[in-house]
Amino acid sequence: MLAHGQVIDFASLPRAEVSDDGGKRLDALLLTTADLADAARQAVAQDYAVMPAGGLTSAIGSFLYDRAALNPRFRDVVAIRPKGTMTPEQVDPATPIDQILSHQIAIDRNRHTVTAGAGITFAQVNRVLEEEVGPNARVLVDLTSVGSALVGGVIATGGMGPMRVRPSMTCEAVCITDGGPQPIILEGREAITAFEGMQGWTGMTTAVRMRYFDVPMLEFGLVLPIQSTDIDAMADLLNYLHSWSAIEPPATGNHLAAQHPENTILNGIELVSRDSLEQFIAQAADPARSKAQGLLQSCEYAGADMLACLTGWSDVSVDEVLGILLDEETETIGGVQIDFGVGFSSGSEMESFRAIREGAPDLARTYARVVQPGKLRPWTTSTDINVAVPRDISAIACVLSAYDDYRREIREVRKAMEGRVEVTLAAYGHLNPMGIDPHHRVTLIAPEGSEAALEEAIEMVKKAKKELIRAIVATAEAHDYTITGGEKGMPSVVEIARASGGVDKAPANLRRMLERARAEIAKAPENFTFRAPLELKAS
Ligand SMILES: Cc1cc2nc3c(=O)[nH]c(=O)nc-3n(C[C@H](O)[C@H](O)[C@H](O)COP(=O)(O)OP(=O)(O)OC[C@H]3O[C@@H](n4cnc5c(N)ncnc54)[C@H](O)[C@@H]3O)c2cc1C
Repeated sequence: MLAHGQVIDFASLPRAEVSDDGGKRLDALLLTTADLADAARQAVAQDYAVMPAGGLTSAIGSFLYDRAALNPRFRDVVAIRPKGTMTPEQVDPATPIDQILSHQIAIDRNRHTVTAGAGITFAQVNRVLEEEVGPNARVLVDLTSVGSALVGGVIATGGMGPMRVRPSMTCEAVCITDGGPQPIILEGREAITAFEGMQGWTGMTTAVRMRYFDVPMLEFGLVLPIQSTDIDAMADLLNYLHSWSAIEPPATGNHLAAQHPENTILNGIELVSRDSLEQFIAQAADPARSKAQGLLQSCEYAGADMLACLTGWSDVSVDEVLGILLDEETETIGGVQIDFGVGFSSGSEMESFRAIREGAPDLARTYARVVQPGKLRPWTTSTDINVAVPRDISAIACVLSAYDDYRREIREVRKAMEGRVEVTLAAYGHLNPMGIDPHHRVTLIAPEGSEAALEEAIEMVKKAKKELIRAIVATAEAHDYTITGGEKGMPSVVEIARASGGVDKAPANLRRMLERARAEIAKAPENFTFRAPLELKAS
């Protein structure tokens, strides 16, 4: 660890022995420090290229770059990682954001803001808020990796969880360093969104100032079995739940109120497939295991192959929430019978609920990472297209049927490759109308010596994924829905543009994002921009 103010001898730093969540190693020297601005300044002054690193939870090859194309004036690449901590150090609320070190936190109760250093997790931020402000105070950042991704990395990816609220929606200021003499403070939505999702290609976050909110008292979960091929029924359900899931942070104050008088907010509508549930049961321990078995039974009774997992906050109990969500006329929730629904309330029940809901993606990610004996390294790809839909059943149905087609295509690949390449598909993630983004992860595993078959399958999956993106892009205008990018920030936008046939063919709002990214990259020092994709660099 570096002492504050010390002159850094970059050449003597160790090479990074760490990998991202996808198992890709960081090809860089590694420096861990609490004073990120000072480290970046010294790195740039000594002609090092800088790779900001956070919790390393991203798995999309964010840290990959072409070493051969690196400007020879750079002596090497240094990964700068914020110093983390078990317990964030609380400092005076008046501390300016550009003086907050990576492990520090400052709470301003008068303005309802919290300033956090880049090395803290948002779970830690919420813990401090809980202790210092009250049990219902929290920032609206809910990635399922809140306990391991770091504040700096979350801003850099623009990541979001079931709530579908990007950090910039409640962020007041971001302090960054591009290695220049002074840190730069970005304030206001426009400046912050121009940095958010840029993966650190234009600079390194040192600290952020977020608004925090008072949310309704009780947390609940509600699981409804649904049939994935019944697109109309799913669209009905999501359309019905639309107004409960729209989270609008208030312009002033910190009370997060619902649109409905009963003060019930849905902060997530997540998909878990029956297949994933079965996989979860096979390896889980009690009490989550027996809860999952109960849910599997619900699927069986309802003849369903998926679960819609609703989560929320309310001032009333989960039983009363059920009554609130119920349509009195049809005695359903948006057309879905509640007879097989299962409720979860605060505390340990919610822990089991989350374990089940997150078990599916965790298993899929692990499966895609592990090299099995006698097999080639797995190849995997996951979809990430966030679509905000209006209250309109046909718009929602249009997006859902594109995924239904994709699943059918993947089943075709499986059939075509039978006996040669194992093809698995795990579907999980977001059905929230504020951001429909059900991740569909395809993993291909082939025996050693079957490189050609694997390549053939990869090409088929890539083609199907491209068709999925094209289908969603093609009908966006006609159905009045907005593709807002993805959870991985600019790499998701670039992927959508590539599938659309180039930047010029991407939807207008994404084209504007790409143009803005290009302009930001043109302004930033090459010490940071060296990792950016080619279409975002000036020719
Ligand atoms: C179990 C699990 C659950 C997940 N759930 C979600 C989810 O619900 N939603 C979601 O969006 N993502 C999710 N992810 C992906 C990942 O957690 C997010 O992308 C997260 O924002 C990455 O944060 P990090 O600190 O780990 O960043 P890293 O992985 O370390 O870095 C990611 C990128 O950000 C850059 N970067 C890192 N720190 C900084 C900094 N201080 N300044 C500038 N640039 C920086 C890096 O250079 C890199 O390009 C999940 C991942 C896992 C493993």
